[in-house]
Amino acid sequence: MQRPTRRVCSLALILCLVPAVWSQEKVDLETISRIRYQGFRNSKVMEYASGLMDSIGERLTGSPNMKRANEWTRDQLTAMGLSNSHLEPWGPFGRGWANQYVNARMTSPDIVPLIVYSKAWTPGTNGVVTGKCVRVVIEDQKDFDKYRGKLAGMILIMGSDADVIKPITEAPFKRLTDDDLAKTGEYQIPSERPMFSPADRAKRQQFVKDLNQFFADEKVLAVIDHSRGTAGGGTVFVQSGGSYKPGETTTIPQLTMASEHWTRIARLLQQKKDVTLELNVTNTFYDDDPMQYDTIAEIPGTDKKDEVVMLGAHLDSWHAGTGATDNGAGTIVMMEAVRILKALDIKPRRTIRIGLWSGEEEGLLGSQGYVEQHFGARPRMEDPGMKDMPTLLRREAGPITVKPEQAKVSAYFNVDNGSGKLRGVYLQENEAVAPIFDAWMKPFKDLGMTTLTMRNTGGTDHLSFDAVGIPGFQFIQDPIEYETRTHHSNMDVYDRLQPDDLKQISVIVASFVYDAAMRDQMLPRKPIEKPLPKEPEKKDE
Ligand SMILES: [Zn+2]
Repeated sequence: MQRPTRRVCSLALILCLVPAVWSQEKVDLETISRIRYQGFRNSKVMEYASGLMDSIGERLTGSPNMKRANEWTRDQLTAMGLSNSHLEPWGPFGRGWANQYVNARMTSPDIVPLIVYSKAWTPGTNGVVTGKCVRVVIEDQKDFDKYRGKLAGMILIMGSDADVIKPITEAPFKRLTDDDLAKTGEYQIPSERPMFSPADRAKRQQFVKDLNQFFADEKVLAVIDHSRGTAGGGTVFVQSGGSYKPGETTTIPQLTMASEHWTRIARLLQQKKDVTLELNVTNTFYDDDPMQYDTIAEIPGTDKKDEVVMLGAHLDSWHAGTGATDNGAGTIVMMEAVRILKALDIKPRRTIRIGLWSGEEEGLLGSQGYVEQHFGARPRMEDPGMKDMPTLLRREAGPITVKPEQAKVSAYFNVDNGSGKLRGVYLQENEAVAPIFDAWMKPFKDLGMTTLTMRNTGGTDHLSFDAVGIPGFQFIQDPIEYETRTHHSNMDVYDRLQPDDLKQISVIVASFVYDAAMRDQMLPRKPIEKPLPKEPEKKDE
């Protein structure tokens, strides 16, 4: 019973000590009401959803669908009345890839169709092929010797856990409780060095390269692993199997199988039974254009038009579903946010600019390319294995050099955590924006938007902006079915989108962008991460 009283007292203390900071933030509630009305009564967000997910579909960076999505978003933004809607190149990226056909069945000891998907950037089978299965467990380069000379013409059933399936005891759908939000609000002191160093990352990439070379040297017929996670249920999480870089393409087909089908084969092999599979996979590589593109468009500002407020999301996806929650959701709410602002014919003081990025799934490449071109970067790393590291991962390479445009961007807002409604904002350790966002958030308390946390959140495109000193933010979102079902899976499709949540996100993002565009000052900034001394070489004991 004591804690609430204490909280009231300390809140009162803050209010009377620093009234200038906490009360001056003006919010134009009349415009907020109009934004809400437009976003809740005239929403186009599910129209955009069907256009992107149903008519275009998967959007693997470099694929023909990625290009269609770039062009479609550019044309939609033009049709809404945005200015200067165009595609901006970054790159070179590498090879494009798309899957056209995949079919797999067991032909012995039983005849049965199997659920599989091709792993990105791996080749097809060049027609129907049949082969015997062999179980392999390869965790690092040391394991190659166990299998050398034994795998020619075989289909490798790869993976270490045969008993992966557990019953689903908790609902895969979740919203954040007050407790969850309170925990998110607690700050955690981050480590001095990022969890993954560029050296670790280069080491992992080298292992994948060596593994693919091993498959090729041993002349295996194909490699099949199983979906991640223990829930199964026909949901298959699939990413890449090879490199998109020219000259590094793997020559062996690779597939990911539904866990329940994979475990059957693994059990039969453990019982020393012969298992034969028939595979037929068609994949195409595209080498006509090494560059990739971001979609960019603007609502021009008025008295402060040389200053910019940015909003964005990544447009690319993985290939087994249609990239609905990752990150069609982010894309369509950003489109809807600018549509709302345009429909209300607001005349923003600052220019509002939307960026829909490609290459996010391969390492934030599209936003990094844009930021490097316009705002700044760290020097490249010298080690050839690390020369492609984005700015945010190359703190060991030296300090940031910024360009003049960097000083003109007030903020960048990003959405990339699925279809769940917004519950707050990660402040990325920028304390000075807390009272500002607190005021901007208040009109949306009735929609569950209540939490500010000093924490950093990672994994997506706001980091490209944050790395060069531009205030970049990602929102706290309800998880819905993101980790459990849709994130990088074959079931990341239109039906998993939550229309009311998407309307809530669109309205709040439109309001935040409006508030930032109308504010007297740009948003306060925090210091840029300092360069790190080069990591000492780790010796294997
Ligand atoms: Zn994403």
